[in-house]
Amino acid sequence: MPASDAFPQPSGGPRAPASGAHLSCPSCGSAHVAQMLGDNGGVSYVCTACGHSWS
Ligand SMILES: [Zn+2]
Repeated sequence: MPASDAFPQPSGGPRAPASGAHLSCPSCGSAHVAQMLGDNGGVSYVCTACGHSWS
């Protein structure tokens, strides 16, 4: 029994972000999107690739 093959994988893929959201930047199309809290408790998104932010 290979012990190295028993590594638990999280659902969502090998490099899924902690938020688990599948987002892509509307400006550059990159998937490197971070989720941030807005002013009024809303949620905003910022692309870490090009710096574009939206909500
Ligand atoms: Zn972008």
